Amino acid sequence: MSATELVALVCCDLGSIVRGRSLPTAQLGARLQAGVGWVPANMSITPLGAVAEQTPFGSTGDLRLLPDAETQVRVEARSGESALEFVLCDIVEPDGTPWECCPRRFLREALDDLSREYGIRVIVSFEHEFQLISDAPAAPPFSLEAQRRFDPLGPELMRALLQGGVQPELFFAEYAPHQFEIPVSPAEGLAGADRSVVLKEIVRDVSRHHDVRASFAPLLDPASAGNGVHIHLSLIDAAGRPLLFDASRPGCLSEVGERFAAGILGHADALSALTAPSPVSAMRLMPHRWSVGAVCVARANREALLRIPSIVPLTGVEPASQMRLEYRGADATANPYLALGALVLAGLDGLRAKLPAPPILDRDPSVLDEADATRYGVGAMPDSLEASLEALAGDNTVRGWLKPLLYDAYVGVKRSELQAAEAIDISELCRRYAAIY
Ligand code: GLU
Ligand code: MG
Repeated sequence: MSATELVALVCCDLGSIVRGRSLPTAQLGARLQAGVGWVPANMSITPLGAVAEQTPFGSTGDLRLLPDAETQVRVEARSGESALEFVLCDIVEPDGTPWECCPRRFLREALDDLSREYGIRVIVSFEHEFQLISDAPAAPPFSLEAQRRFDPLGPELMRALLQGGVQPELFFAEYAPHQFEIPVSPAEGLAGADRSVVLKEIVRDVSRHHDVRASFAPLLDPASAGNGVHIHLSLIDAAGRPLLFDASRPGCLSEVGERFAAGILGHADALSALTAPSPVSAMRLMPHRWSVGAVCVARANREALLRIPSIVPLTGVEPASQMRLEYRGADATANPYLALGALVLAGLDGLRAKLPAPPILDRDPSVLDEADATRYGVGAMPDSLEASLEALAGDNTVRGWLKPLLYDAYVGVKRSELQAAEAIDISELCRRYAAIY
């Protein structure tokens, strides 16, 4: 262990890169009130490295990264390494006023709106897939051998995640080469999104110490399965009673659930600009990749944008508490606070408008003929980041959720990624994003 340990005060930026500043851990207490300095233009730095050409920020201005002490994470070191310690921060003005581009603020306000207007709270779990970058031949999908091949990385990851407070539930090999998944227990609102940030940093850090890179990029190989982020949502009332289950309705989805789902489906195209926002994201969201083959809600169907996972009587947990909606259209290039905040606001929009129940699809969307696809309201996801950004620009409701400064900064970052991607073929692009995420 080194004599001086460091704790990082960090935020998750618009491209979902975690950035910040570190200080000796012994001085953290003295920094909790005022945080550390930050610069507005940092929010226009793209995942590729440079400040976006199109940015609302100049060289002026000062901000603070203000630690949220409840989010402090510490993962003990193995010998010869230092402990991983960081605290998630809000981005605020020097006088403590929330900054209008702070992603945690965006989510907090979305959750507050839902709670104030309908007394509804959101319980959420981000389900992440990732791949180890390795030239070694892959073991068979889901196999025990695939789990053991990088041993002791699996148990080390679980140990670190337990210490980091993200409550990992399982460790398993997924379908693609060297692909793994670690589902975590759900948490309420902001804490659920915090868990997504913490999980990725811990997995990358522990893997780094085992000399292998863990990548959460949406697609490493255009010919293979991608790395999804599936956002599992449950709704509860102020007293904690579950609100999504109604055995008398199609799919056992309550009226509240139907309206919430309809809101998300209705804004699906614009939402994709916030949930799957890299130049490689759309390629993952093609039919037959078990990501999102179609914009619809369906029961136990891995081609639907919104899946209703099966109720499992074997668990003994009452069905109402098991019921959730799984949004399958996100990936790790999305800022989890913006993605979840936008899903919450889309659901809220469906509640306000009392939207009619979306039909619950009961088959693979790709077998529908055109007439049935229309009847079921099944459409395709935008097929490029360009199309997603156009959908966002054209959806006044979704666009209106983002304060103008946040919208300008966000679109600036995304446009500059698009521009950089223009002349690069998809395989090379996948490699570049794999090195970043
Ligand atoms: N890898 C798939 C995706 O890109 C998800 C597979 C699954 O876990 O259902 O979303
Ligand atoms: Mg999976």
